[in-house]
Amino acid sequence: MSLRIRPDLDDLPVYVPGKTFPGAVKLASNEVTDGPLPSVIDAITAAAAGANRYPDNGMVELTASLAKRLGVTEDEIQVGCGSVILCQNLILITSGRGDEVVFGWRSFETYPLATRVAGATPVQVPLTGDLTHDLRAMAAAVTDRTRLIFVCNPNNPTGTVVEAADLHEFLTRVPSDVIVALDEAYFEYQRLPAPQAYDALQLRREFPNLVILRTFSKAYGLAGLRIGYAVADPEIITALGKVHVPFSVSSVAQAAAVASLDAGDELLARTDAVVAERARVTERLRAAGYRVPDSQANFVWLDLGASSMDFARACVDAGVVVRPFAGDGVRVTVTNSDEDDAFLRFAESWDGSRG
Ligand code: PMP
Repeated sequence: MSLRIRPDLDDLPVYVPGKTFPGAVKLASNEVTDGPLPSVIDAITAAAAGANRYPDNGMVELTASLAKRLGVTEDEIQVGCGSVILCQNLILITSGRGDEVVFGWRSFETYPLATRVAGATPVQVPLTGDLTHDLRAMAAAVTDRTRLIFVCNPNNPTGTVVEAADLHEFLTRVPSDVIVALDEAYFEYQRLPAPQAYDALQLRREFPNLVILRTFSKAYGLAGLRIGYAVADPEIITALGKVHVPFSVSSVAQAAAVASLDAGDELLARTDAVVAERARVTERLRAAGYRVPDSQANFVWLDLGASSMDFARACVDAGVVVRPFAGDGVRVTVTNSDEDDAFLRFAESWDGSRG
């Protein structure tokens, strides 16, 4: 068949999530293992009973709740069905054919894919040798055609972070009319000491071109409901509102997010256990000879290069699903000691090259 489908999509890969199977330990998608709290289940059940009605397209209750918690105004928030759609919508409001979107590489796979879908050109700036964003090179990559920059922090899949002073300097170098999206999907797992840590909400006051992206999928444990949000200048939020697909955030997701914010302290306290596991897993992997950068997220990166696919295949055979990136490395979610031990047993006994 020859149909009038855009030919520039021909060589675009389809996103393939890690395959899983019954009984597998699933460490491929950076999910948490705990299900929603009882109060969140109650909110979900109540919202489900009204599923004959369309959801609140203005997402009023959730927006008000987020504004209060974050100390921003409601016109500085846009909710979307997952922060992935907000990445895509930021590209849509800024970039089309001939425009450039700059981001570090390797990073979140949506950036190049969604840029290509919009017909724009991805500009991938290699990470530094220690697998962090090369912010100077990223600033230097900005041209007249640049419309948007993604800084994924902590970076998926390496778990590495940029430091406050470097981020500040970067923002002063970027032209003030270029939007910088700071993708903080894993923000709640960061434990940086004071001089290195930055406060994105504060930075945004100084740099109105900064957009913060966060999600309920990770620390808040609502990956299956698809809900995330952007915090930005009202001018950017208004534009995001224009490309928002009406009613795309379900009433169940909105209710669950409100209830999760209400239980925020309890949910965020759970991240401490993951942070402790992250230190344990990193140490054990390093002791076993793997190169593992310091991670500030709920996953670790094994810098396995050419062995990545072999390692991941053997790991799946051992019942643990991890996420390989061909020729580059393997990302492994950190969850609880039982699941992490299942992975460590495999990793410590693997007799292939450790990079
Ligand atoms: N940004 C990054 C860096 C991610 O890793 C993810 C999820 N893998 C997302 C955004 C999207 O998360 P969600 O759509 O579930 O909110």
